[in-house]
Amino acid sequence: MVITGSQVMECLRSGKSELGHHIIGKKVDLVLDITLIHSRKKIKGAVCNFQGKDAQSAEKIVGEQTLGPLPPYPLESSNPLFQLNWRRTININLGVKPMYGFYGRILKIDLNEEAFSIEPVDDQILKTCLGGRGLATRLLLDHNPPGVDPLSPENLLIFASGPVTGSPVWGSCRHGVFTKSPQTGYFSESYSGGTVAEHMSGTGFDAMVISGAAERPVWLEICEGTVHFHSAEDLWGRDTFKTEDNVKEWVKQNRPETKKCGVVCIGPAGENKVSFAVLENDYWRSAGRTGVGAVAGSKNIKAIAFWGNRKKAFADVDLLKDFAKSLARGAREDPGVKAYKSMGTPMLVDIMNKAGAFPTRYWKKGKYEHFEKINAGALHERCEVQPHACLKCFMACGRLSTIKEGRHRGLKIEGPEYETIYAFGGLCEIDSIEEIAYLNDICDRLGMDTISGGNLAALTIEASRQGKIDYQIDYGQVDSIAQLLEDIAYRRGIGDTLARGIKFTAGEWKMEDQAIHVKGLEPAGYDPRVLKGMGLAYGSSARGACHLRATFYKPELSGIVDPEQIDGKAEIFTEWEDRLTIFDAFILCRFYRDLYQWDKLSTIIKGTTGMELDIGEMRSIAASIVDNTRRFNLREGLTLQEDGLPKRFFREALPETRKIITEDQMKQLMNDYYRARGWNEKGEPPK
Ligand code: SF4
Repeated sequence: MVITGSQVMECLRSGKSELGHHIIGKKVDLVLDITLIHSRKKIKGAVCNFQGKDAQSAEKIVGEQTLGPLPPYPLESSNPLFQLNWRRTININLGVKPMYGFYGRILKIDLNEEAFSIEPVDDQILKTCLGGRGLATRLLLDHNPPGVDPLSPENLLIFASGPVTGSPVWGSCRHGVFTKSPQTGYFSESYSGGTVAEHMSGTGFDAMVISGAAERPVWLEICEGTVHFHSAEDLWGRDTFKTEDNVKEWVKQNRPETKKCGVVCIGPAGENKVSFAVLENDYWRSAGRTGVGAVAGSKNIKAIAFWGNRKKAFADVDLLKDFAKSLARGAREDPGVKAYKSMGTPMLVDIMNKAGAFPTRYWKKGKYEHFEKINAGALHERCEVQPHACLKCFMACGRLSTIKEGRHRGLKIEGPEYETIYAFGGLCEIDSIEEIAYLNDICDRLGMDTISGGNLAALTIEASRQGKIDYQIDYGQVDSIAQLLEDIAYRRGIGDTLARGIKFTAGEWKMEDQAIHVKGLEPAGYDPRVLKGMGLAYGSSARGACHLRATFYKPELSGIVDPEQIDGKAEIFTEWEDRLTIFDAFILCRFYRDLYQWDKLSTIIKGTTGMELDIGEMRSIAASIVDNTRRFNLREGLTLQEDGLPKRFFREALPETRKIITEDQMKQLMNDYYRARGWNEKGEPPK
């Protein structure tokens, strides 16, 4: 069916629904561009014509039946979609009906001009890289300027949901943020749960690509088919909780057509471009690693609200519903599910401490003598705790905790998670779960990553003890650490040095041989001297010392893989990483990893997108996503040395177990990994 110019104009005039949705719903097989001409709050007219490559593809499809330019047409401004603040041009590309699981559309926002455009995504691209990380990596490779300064306007900031978002599949309410990291200078990916992904998907886009920088602080309102740019001058300086409250209240008051919205925002740390600032949502959830909040701050974005009622089509909704129902039924007695639900991630404190791999006293020890004061038992005893879940989750790993006694009585927080407990409890030796919750709360409000915050606090303690800096701070000193976190967020004194990240700080303080990081990102709470596969995880991850790309601590701790094994480990690791790369493309919660083995992933892919993929095909898509990520990093100057571990892990044995990982073991793991990935000895994927 070919639509006519008058049908297009009717869509515009009626204002019934957003243009692309309306026409795509009619299975149009014509590609065209619409340019709307409008000025302050009034749409003056519309011109429909063919432009660029879209014109060629349109001509290919419809042959002679082309749409000529239409004359300007007067329109009412009653459609909120087009109520814009000032003159700008919108290019809306309409395409054929998208493949199942996708909208087939990307929103591009140019902050320099405060303008946006909507562009189609080719099905072929979606089939080969799926959504989420796969799509975002491809966009970064194709459109981010090579060598760009991460805090410059040219660095793209990308938000994506996955093909599974909005479906009944459990663990599907997560979104991803992608950019070039100011913390590492390399590929940045960070994911968050809560409720935002559903709202993000409701706007009708698979990804949102933000370029440029606003002249003034702004918050963006992204809704069905349009973007509003609001001044955020009154929000600037506020903490993340107040910012989220204020933006949600504004939407509630001014957008009666929506009941709820999802909000991501930065705190003072993001405003001040602290290299490990986060984008926070739902108060306590965050895209926490690699400094995505600093990139938002560099663009003068204080917050983004997402709302809309778009629903994308899934290939087989009945299949997905049955799948979700039977999974929930079957998982009721699953010991892993029960453990997450009853204790949350703090259960790992006991497990890691027993294994001698609980990083303590800035990575000098693997066991903490006061672990019982900061473990899951202590949390549940000393706080009122309720299990708390993201949307579409029956596991409810979150702990909604309210402190019962002491100086922080009444403080409420979702957490602390294991990683925060390790970073402040283990590394900084804070022997009180309430005080860890207090430091967690400070980081959340300021909008900073707790893993980097705890690592940098512990490094500062060492620097102070060794006389490298004139600053009073020591292990266990909660208030000094709290002050330091504030100093970092506002870049006061040594806080300005620390805000630039661990690589810079270690250089300034002549502590390169002591600072623990890979590519500028501090590790999570799993010591690779005990869990050797975590050494490979930290070395190989594109974003630095990351524990999540393969979550290899899981098979090593549960006895599936011997932690000491070196031979053949990279092959097992690669398979885990491939499976979890599909998780990142679909944006599924990591904690469903035991429930979603390859067969289940295959069902999810079939039910959402209609694609029938076997393990080999899924692994091949995952491998191409990992290859593309690697290509991005190599283009940004990554060297083989940066795939290694900090030297301390090779030289300092853990005192309790005498465990160490040798440089040769690490080299073998990395070389085997390159081979398993089909890369050459320089770690380069095939061209
Ligand atoms: S397991 Fe935890 S992080 Fe994952 S979806 Fe459920 S509540 Fe969210």
